[in-house]
Amino acid sequence: MIAVLGIPYDDASSYLKGPALAPSAIRQMESEGSSNQLSENGTAIRSDHAYTDLGDVHFKQRDPQSIFETIRDHVATALTTNEKILVFGGDHSVSYPVVDAVRQKYSNLHILHFDAHADLYDIFDDNPYSHACPFARIMESGRIASLTQVGIRTLDHHQREQAKRFGVRQIEMKTFSTDYIKDLKGPLYISLDLDVLDPAHAPGLSHYEPGGVATRDLISMIQQITVPVIGADIVEYNPVRDINHMTAMVAYKLFKELIAKMISF
Ligand code: MN
Ligand code: MN
Repeated sequence: MIAVLGIPYDDASSYLKGPALAPSAIRQMESEGSSNQLSENGTAIRSDHAYTDLGDVHFKQRDPQSIFETIRDHVATALTTNEKILVFGGDHSVSYPVVDAVRQKYSNLHILHFDAHADLYDIFDDNPYSHACPFARIMESGRIASLTQVGIRTLDHHQREQAKRFGVRQIEMKTFSTDYIKDLKGPLYISLDLDVLDPAHAPGLSHYEPGGVATRDLISMIQQITVPVIGADIVEYNPVRDINHMTAMVAYKLFKELIAKMISF
């Protein structure tokens, strides 16, 4: 079974708050009835059928270390009785503790990361656990088999150096191609920062970075993956900036496609 977990956390956001409100807003798209519960390949994506919804992580303490330990523990516990996991909500900082738990179960883990940003800063705003830093923390563990970043369009010198240091493959928008898909290996974890999308396709984001991918192209890339996907996150959805739940529905659509992909192996 696939465990689904909401992470209502945005303390590590550098610019705007809002992603803490994402889990309930995404779940609302399933229950309100404006869309059906099918992925495009016809798989029924229903709770207790395709996945088990474990609800949201609750935080008793607010310091980053306790927050990350709580997330890591929830994911590790979920993976004792479930084979795979998908988390949604939260800013991108949550991917670090989530991946940390996933790699305990799946050694030789490969990561596919969709984002406008590389999130490889060693430190950002004096915070090594900022949402601009998770892939630096993940890669310095030395236990990730490969990291492929797709949709990047904000690189500075420091992040290019970090990418070299960690052996990261980057598919930048300025030279975009989907050739990377055939080179992906499993077990694969997909980290999906919704700001990989062009802001015209997703107004419910904190960071508007023009020149991104279209929703259709992102869905198609996910559908073309041919290796086992064992975990995923959907992060950086900001309901405060959304218009008529447009981006909540994009997140829900991508949730259905990711679950369908995870089921298919
Ligand atoms: Mn990100
Ligand atoms: Mn981003």
